[in-house]
Amino acid sequence: MPADQAVQLFSDRYSALVNAGLEREPDTDRWLAAGLPGGADIERRYRLGQDQVRAYVDWAEAHPTETWKTPEDKPALELYFLVELGGVNVRGYIDQVVQDPDGALRPRDWKTGTTKSRFQLEVYTVALRKAYDVEVNKADWYLAKNGGLSRPLKMDAITEEQVAERFVAMDAGVKAGDFPPQPGFQCRFCDVSHACFFKSNLSGNLK
Ligand code: SF4
Repeated sequence: MPADQAVQLFSDRYSALVNAGLEREPDTDRWLAAGLPGGADIERRYRLGQDQVRAYVDWAEAHPTETWKTPEDKPALELYFLVELGGVNVRGYIDQVVQDPDGALRPRDWKTGTTKSRFQLEVYTVALRKAYDVEVNKADWYLAKNGGLSRPLKMDAITEEQVAERFVAMDAGVKAGDFPPQPGFQCRFCDVSHACFFKSNLSGNLK
């Protein structure tokens, strides 16, 4: 797809989603925004998204990537998985699974912002191995802010047991209702901040 067409697709989709959001909550001051008030943030991200889409198409043309095909012969994009780790059902979607020239697979997460989670890539690694019995030794991020890939993260030493341990602890915490509040900078990006007692008590300097 040429860059102009991809940018148009993004613009149409973004506008449709924003309009649907405005129907649900017309007051943009109540929208979660970063840095700018709601309305200005919507416009800023529209421009930013267009720039990031164009940069992605340019990057993809200069760096051809082979997307892995699943046994069902489907390209591994937004690849759904459901695996059991330590007795906990874990499901998710992997943005892309790349097939390296040596045949090994590499989960890739596409990031528009800067927040990165190594654990997320570890989960994808273990999920791919478990669901498809394939070799996964590396993982990486496409970073739209930089218009390129992160360095590859080594995954060969990651085991199912290590990843399962964290899900088991998380699951036990959820079942015990153990949710210690940690108000701070991240409250600005929190999906439930509008209903959070702890945020509202500290909102003077957090909002
Ligand atoms: S708003 Fe509340 S739930 Fe959200 S991050 Fe802050 S303290 Fe945690």
